[in-house]
Amino acid sequence: EAKESGKSRICYFDAKRHQSNRSRNQLLVDIEKAIENDEFILHFQPRICLRDGSLSGAEALLRWFRPDGPTPPVEVITAIRGTSLEWELDTWVMKEALAQVRRFRAYGLQGPFSLNVMPSTIENRELPSLLKQFLDDASISGENLEIEVLEVSSIRDFDQANEILRVCKELGIRFSLDDFGTGYASLTYFHSLPVDKLKIDQLFIRTLLSDGGSLALVKSILAISDANDCFVVAEGVESYSIASALRHLGCDYGQGFGLAKPMASDDYIAWAHNWDAQVFLDRMAASG
Ligand code: C2E
Ligand code: MG
Ligand code: MG
Ligand code: MG
Repeated sequence: EAKESGKSRICYFDAKRHQSNRSRNQLLVDIEKAIENDEFILHFQPRICLRDGSLSGAEALLRWFRPDGPTPPVEVITAIRGTSLEWELDTWVMKEALAQVRRFRAYGLQGPFSLNVMPSTIENRELPSLLKQFLDDASISGENLEIEVLEVSSIRDFDQANEILRVCKELGIRFSLDDFGTGYASLTYFHSLPVDKLKIDQLFIRTLLSDGGSLALVKSILAISDANDCFVVAEGVESYSIASALRHLGCDYGQGFGLAKPMASDDYIAWAHNWDAQVFLDRMAASG
């Protein structure tokens, strides 16, 4: 009896795994096609300088609107992990982001504009020359571009990554560690890579005003970055009172739904032209 049911349970799990492998494979095929057919688009989330309220560019975020509904970027990233599609997707994102940045610049908008890449991409020796080509094609300089590296804990060869990042930095490109403070990106990695900015994970920002542990962590990240001439971006700023608290703590930049949501590039252009730094500073002062 017990053996029987044990057996059937194993079968059940196997069947499930088989099914999920099949759907992952289907998703990988769909992603590959989506890259080829330009089915992805980028949305842009503004980044605000908390000191003076000025707009400091935006982060490009992947969007995939399929006929049966949107697929979140995290699903795409989870599916492609460990496959050659990491490089294919990041290549598409770099090219498309720079084409959009070119448009933004034509509308008089200043950067830097950031995009996200998988850790394997900064270990790829083709990265510097590819970026140089995309920058040249879009007639923009590297100073307009910032690269956010995800999940740095899975970088395999730090010496190689360092060398590649240094060549990119000679083009003026800057680098930031995404989701800083989580297991994916902690102090160890900060000291192993030539980093210009830290992006504090939204987990700690959302709970900044309610959790003493988050406050302590944010303070220590700010102290470390200060000592290392590094800038800090707070992610997940959902209210003006959080923005105000971050400003008082000395955090350089804020990004979050409370300031602005990610938006399509045309909407970003319109939004950026309407942004009023003084109104923002007044509202922040009123809330905190
Ligand atoms: P991330 O790079 O840390 O991006 C921030 C995520 O937080 C975005 O989710 C953004 O929409 C969301 N967000 C921004 N402000 C707030 C807020 O105030 N509250 C809350 N709850 N969320 C906020 P999204 O667009 O779903 O992206 C999720 C993750 O997927 C990104 O996290 C990044 O790790 C990855 N990703 C997104 N686009 C790309 C891409 O083009 N390439 C790669 N390789 N990864 C990407
Ligand atoms: Mg990011
Ligand atoms: Mg993040
Ligand atoms: Mg994240």
